[in-house]
Amino acid sequence: MIKALKNYGLWILLILSHFTWAQEGEKEKLKLIELQAEVSHNTAVMHQLDSAIYLSENERYVEADERFIYVMRNLRSIPSDLTFYFGKNSFYLKKYRQSIDWLNKYIQLKGTTGQYSEQAVEWLRKSEVELLKERVTESAQAKEILSRDFTIDCGPAGKVVCPVCMGKTVIIKKNYFGESYKTCPYCSKHGYLSCTDYNKLVKGELKPSGD
Ligand SMILES: [Zn+2]
Repeated sequence: MIKALKNYGLWILLILSHFTWAQEGEKEKLKLIELQAEVSHNTAVMHQLDSAIYLSENERYVEADERFIYVMRNLRSIPSDLTFYFGKNSFYLKKYRQSIDWLNKYIQLKGTTGQYSEQAVEWLRKSEVELLKERVTESAQAKEILSRDFTIDCGPAGKVVCPVCMGKTVIIKKNYFGESYKTCPYCSKHGYLSCTDYNKLVKGELKPSGD
């Protein structure tokens, strides 16, 4: 009798373990399906980015703008090259503040060595000149889309030169008595920010350390 019970227990155990094993398999399958869906979603969005760039290069700036914004809203983090393309396209739409904002973003992310760094500086200057003219005539655009509302992908290095101290780790303040030096409160003496901290800083969410 006792032996029979033991066997019975063993069977239950076997059935139970088989059942949970099957469940695990289902979970794995679901995960795989989710992953595949994400990959195909991203591929579709990247196609939209290609066509936005194509439209922009063919002087169809309004259509390009719509697609750029679609891509920005549908990716978890924005590829750094997009900041250049969108900034340049914004110039043609006479959205100069927006153009300056995104081109500055590109320069912050890539420094002087990026594929589009030279062009970015050029377009940035053009936008600044136009913005100045606009201020004189007070004909500014009402609604512009700014980069701080998005999460930016900082590229494979995953870090950015600290824009507060420009990587110098100290902030120099000129005052009546000369110059005063203060340790940069954002990059903890590294001169760099992680991509997460950089995005926080831009959104005003990174708390300074020390004082
Ligand atoms: Zn710093």
